[in-house]
Amino acid sequence: MNPEPSQLQCAACEEPEPPFILTVIKDNVFRRLCADCLLKEHRGLFCPVCLDVYVAPPPPDAVNICLLCSSTTHLNCSSSSSDDHFFTCPPCLDPNFSFFPKSLDNDGSGTVLDLQKAKALVAAAEIAVASAKNAAAQLEEEAVNKSIESKDAKEKAKEALEYLEDVKDKASGKKINPRKRKNSDR
Ligand SMILES: [Zn+2]
Ligand SMILES: [Zn+2]
Ligand SMILES: [Zn+2]
Repeated sequence: MNPEPSQLQCAACEEPEPPFILTVIKDNVFRRLCADCLLKEHRGLFCPVCLDVYVAPPPPDAVNICLLCSSTTHLNCSSSSSDDHFFTCPPCLDPNFSFFPKSLDNDGSGTVLDLQKAKALVAAAEIAVASAKNAAAQLEEEAVNKSIESKDAKEKAKEALEYLEDVKDKASGKKINPRKRKNSDR
C-alpha cells in the first residue's frame, strides 16, 4: 500500500512523518495527529506526570489544576506540596516539552522507547480510541434524532398540506364541503 503523504502528516505540527500517527474524531471531524500533539490537545483527559488517562473526570479535590491550561494532575503526582490545588503542567512550563518525540531519528537517542514514552503512546492511543467511541455514540444519537425529526417533519408537512387544502377550499369554493366541516368542527 502507498498511503498518501498527507495521511502520514500530523495535522497540528505538520511533522511529515511522525513515528506514530493517531486519528481522533471530534464533532465528525477526523484529524490525524502525532502522539505528542494528540496529548497536548487533550490535556484535560490524562495526568501529564504519570500519563494515566482518566477513566472519568476526576473530582476537583482529587487533582491539581494547571494554572495555564485545562490539564489536571493527581495530587500525589504533582511535585508542589502546596494544598492550593494549582500547578503548572510540563508543556505549559516548557514550550519545548514533548510527551512523545516528533521524530525518532533526530539524534538516535529517541529510538529507544523508554517507559515514559511507551506510557505516552498508550495514553494517546487510549484517547484516540475513546474519541472514536464518542463519535460512534454521537453518530448513533444523531441518527435517532434525525429519524425523530423526519417523523416530525412528515407530520408537519401533512398538517400543512391539509391546512392548505382547507384554505384553498375556503378561498375558491366558498362552499365548504360539509364532510370536511364536520371533521374540523369548532
Ligand atoms: Zn504533531
Ligand atoms: Zn498522575
Ligand atoms: Zn498546562
